[in-house]
Amino acid sequence: MFWDRKIETLDRPALEQLQLQRLQKTVRRVAAHVPFYREKFAELGVRPRDIHSLDDLRRLPFTTSADLRANYPTGLLAVPLDDALRLHTSSGTTGKPKALFFSRQDVDNAAELCARSFVMSGVTKKDVFQNMMTYGMFTGALVTHYGAEKVGCLVIPAGPGNSERQLMLMQDFRTTFIHLTPSYALYLATFLEKHGVNPRRDLALRKAFVGAEPYTEGTCRKIEHGLGLDVYNSYGLSEMNGPGVAFECEQKHGMHLWEDHFLIEIINPATGEPVKAGEPGELVLTTLTREAMPLLRYRTRDITSIITKPCRCGRTHRRLHRITGRSDDMLIVRGVNIYPQQIERVLMAQSGVGRNYLISLEGLDEMTIKVELAEAGFEGQVEQLVKLQSQLAEKLRTEILIKPLVQLLPPGSLPVSEGKTKRVIDNRKL
Ligand code: ADP
Ligand code: ZN
Repeated sequence: MFWDRKIETLDRPALEQLQLQRLQKTVRRVAAHVPFYREKFAELGVRPRDIHSLDDLRRLPFTTSADLRANYPTGLLAVPLDDALRLHTSSGTTGKPKALFFSRQDVDNAAELCARSFVMSGVTKKDVFQNMMTYGMFTGALVTHYGAEKVGCLVIPAGPGNSERQLMLMQDFRTTFIHLTPSYALYLATFLEKHGVNPRRDLALRKAFVGAEPYTEGTCRKIEHGLGLDVYNSYGLSEMNGPGVAFECEQKHGMHLWEDHFLIEIINPATGEPVKAGEPGELVLTTLTREAMPLLRYRTRDITSIITKPCRCGRTHRRLHRITGRSDDMLIVRGVNIYPQQIERVLMAQSGVGRNYLISLEGLDEMTIKVELAEAGFEGQVEQLVKLQSQLAEKLRTEILIKPLVQLLPPGSLPVSEGKTKRVIDNRKL
């Protein structure tokens, strides 16, 4: 199903022509209105009229999240404050947040892209949407909220948490789809199980859009099984409107990134040079339609790769592989580079393992993986636990090259969060 068949299936030459026009317009806009970019252009000796092809993108400066913070609150605004309609901030980990402004057109485009993304997986106006993203300054909930309204769905602005109320709403209003984080999805699955709810039998749920943090294929399967529905990967970031940047289609193999609104590059994060076609690297995005706060070559720090083959659904916008983590998520333990997602991949593929885990780093580079056992399957035999523990430690060693301590815990013993979950606790004294 298509929301806007013409633009979603536009042939590549026409799409690239549109991208070039929009890139040229964006570059002119920031050169005229944003001193930060004007100075960068002067340093690099580049003028808006030098952009003749999409390859000229590489002449333009990168923008980083540090630039956003340094220009907080209004430094990167490209329209008079009067023309800004909405302010969002990004959670960020330290210091000042990033302030993101939207014009009326930006608000509308953000909703449009979410509408496109929902319909791509079969959502129609008959669907009932229970939005379990966090409402507030984050883009996560509001942008998907307006997207679903645009499709004509009934929208229930539930927000995350309060699972008893979630269940009541899902039952009373026959909710058919939800949008939530992987960690809350896993928690909700456990909650339903504990309350004897069989989602396939007792609820009308058909789809979950899951995103806002990285998760593995194994986690995806667990959510599908636990909630009795289809999971679609949902990717976005506040700097690029929020959710709706790239979503999965019904093929569920990679996420179409809406290339009429964003230009994609994949670079080697260490050198800034493009990687070879199809190779993994850092995703860099340039906004093509944003008015209030256009960003050139924004370094997302998200690690992914482009699927080069065309998709069977007929959409021409290229797909991204599942995000495997952020370039700055990387841990260095005993000199080895490790991404938390590598650990999650091993844990979630192992039968007997439950839904929650925590990576804890202590002392002088000691790594402990605390992992919950599955609700069912454990018959109380110590030998069984010892075997699982050593299997996990061995599989982890093959994946991450060091052998961590594995601690098995009863289901439900690790903390859960409603928003983004903290998977790593680093208390090392190095
Ligand atoms: P931040 O977490 O930087 O404060 P956001 O709330 O805008 O900002 O979150 C955007 C980030 O969330 C992305 O850059 C990415 O790291 C992560 N993210 C969002 N969706 C996904 C997804 N489907 N898979 C993996 N990571 C995701
Ligand atoms: Zn597709």
